[in-house]
Amino acid sequence: MSNKRFSLALHGGAGAKPGHDYAVEIAHMRSLVEAARDRLAAGASALDVAVETVVALEASGLYIAGKGASPNADGEYELDASLMDGATLKAGSVAALRGFKSPILTARAVMEATPHVMLAGQGAIDFAAEQGLEPVEDPEAWFTRAGAFEDNHPPDALPVGTVGCVVRDTDGRLAAATSTAGVFGKRPGRVGDSPVIGAGAWADGHAAVSCTGQGEYFIRAAVAVQVAHRVRFGGQDLEEAARQAIASVADLGGHGGLVSVDRDGNVAMPFASSGLKRAALLKDGTIVSAAF
Ligand code: ASP
Repeated sequence: MSNKRFSLALHGGAGAKPGHDYAVEIAHMRSLVEAARDRLAAGASALDVAVETVVALEASGLYIAGKGASPNADGEYELDASLMDGATLKAGSVAALRGFKSPILTARAVMEATPHVMLAGQGAIDFAAEQGLEPVEDPEAWFTRAGAFEDNHPPDALPVGTVGCVVRDTDGRLAAATSTAGVFGKRPGRVGDSPVIGAGAWADGHAAVSCTGQGEYFIRAAVAVQVAHRVRFGGQDLEEAARQAIASVADLGGHGGLVSVDRDGNVAMPFASSGLKRAALLKDGTIVSAAF
């Protein structure tokens, strides 16, 4: 069923530090929601808008993704990203990508230019170069967060800070995109949920989901697909489905949150963590935003 409604939600990570002022991030996220609203009103697809929004989140340097990435325990920047198009169930993903500015554009290229869903490590790097994606020439000059990461995160928790976006377009299509540098101080080669389709991102005809938090738990609970399947097979509304999926992370001892949208344009953004930097355009046209 097609109609003129559309909605979207985006996040800048579950690693919000209590007491910290996120006015800059919130103003930035709201501006991205407005830009996405204009693109959707003009008929842009859910997939294009989700990717464009995550590209802007990555490029801002404000979140732990793209330009704002934090290094792993060896001081290397290994980035993960994925996306899924609910209209076609096509998906693309990169893991432990080094040396390129936009992991999400690399993931999109994997979806569109290969028969594969996921490329990792050196294979992802070689592919990104072949595709002419924009390289990072000097990591220490490009990445904004070298050394500053701990300022942004509680010392007692595994620090996190992914970005993501979910969209329902005017044709009722859904899409999800997620991008991250992963958790602070991660082992070289560690891959979290963000590039794992069904864990950190999912979109089908029922729901689109982008997650953030301690990725190991989100993989074990298959959180993103869990939300969609609760809606599709469990008959739950999105709010309940999303809340219970986050509860399944908390039950394992993990923390985090997600943003989600369903085919009717409803938005749910639950979290079980200190906060979740987020903004959304609801189907009635209202823009909402918060960090806690
Ligand atoms: N989920 C991401 C990971 O575990 C981290 C985050 O959301 O900040 O890699």
